[in-house]
Amino acid sequence: MKLRALLMTGMILILLLGLSACKGQSPLSFLRPSETPLPPTATATFAPTATVTATPTITPTSAPTATATPSKITIPAGSVTAPILLYHHVSTNSETQDSRYNIPPEKFEEQIKWLFDNGYQTINISELANLIYYGGEIPQRPVVITFDDGNIDNYNNALPILKKYGFVATFFVVETYVNGAEMISTDQVKELIQNGWEIGSHSKTHPHLPNISEELLPDEIRMSKLNLEEKLGVPVNSFAYPFGEINDNIIRLTSSYGYKSAVGLGNSVTHTMQSIFYLQRIEIENDYSMEVFISKLPWSGPLQ
Ligand SMILES: [Zn+2]
Repeated sequence: MKLRALLMTGMILILLLGLSACKGQSPLSFLRPSETPLPPTATATFAPTATVTATPTITPTSAPTATATPSKITIPAGSVTAPILLYHHVSTNSETQDSRYNIPPEKFEEQIKWLFDNGYQTINISELANLIYYGGEIPQRPVVITFDDGNIDNYNNALPILKKYGFVATFFVVETYVNGAEMISTDQVKELIQNGWEIGSHSKTHPHLPNISEELLPDEIRMSKLNLEEKLGVPVNSFAYPFGEINDNIIRLTSSYGYKSAVGLGNSVTHTMQSIFYLQRIEIENDYSMEVFISKLPWSGPLQ
């Protein structure tokens, strides 16, 4: 076991060195405490039985069998590798069934089960941001699951599936959509928070921010945060740009209003201080096969 732990530590070190090498020199790399040694416990909690679960199907009533106990590693500040997934609807609603923004619950569960079976563990967007700022403990295979807008089907359909696998998510809600038709209510948002979900702002009215009058930007970006915080009694630390649309002024304002991070669209799974106000999220679309879904993710197979 000692030899195994040594090998594991060596592999993780090589991995970390490799990652920083291909990232290039970041202007903030001087902040990176590269001399910080990996803690001796980095691999100690690794479960030798960690394998892909052999259960072929999971019935709605059965809890998944956690055959893997993924361990955590400690990383320095500066850079975090973690896919951030973006969903809109998880629904069987026939009107949205074929929309690229809608994932049927069965397909959603298949994706979540794959993540679970392959040793992924969820973190929320502010945990990811804090790791970029300060470093710290992170699952071996972290994933951030996010939802945009505030649709009621996220509460009805996504929450029970995520709960079943011990996963949490970050929900970017449009402030004025809360309590609207087919939208989540304030009490339901509070319930999500009690279940470990993070709530972010997705603006006040979901406009194309670069197209609206600059005088309206503080209302959309800042007031949506303050109003949500007042309604929910929790800090709102992250902002999702509607349609992923930005310009320099929008990013500058967002970073000056007390947000710690902001999210947009893209396919990168490595995030740094340079991208903390435009963290790229991978949009999961309706017609993605499991092969396409898996191809967007950085890790698969048994945990090493
Ligand atoms: Zn949206």
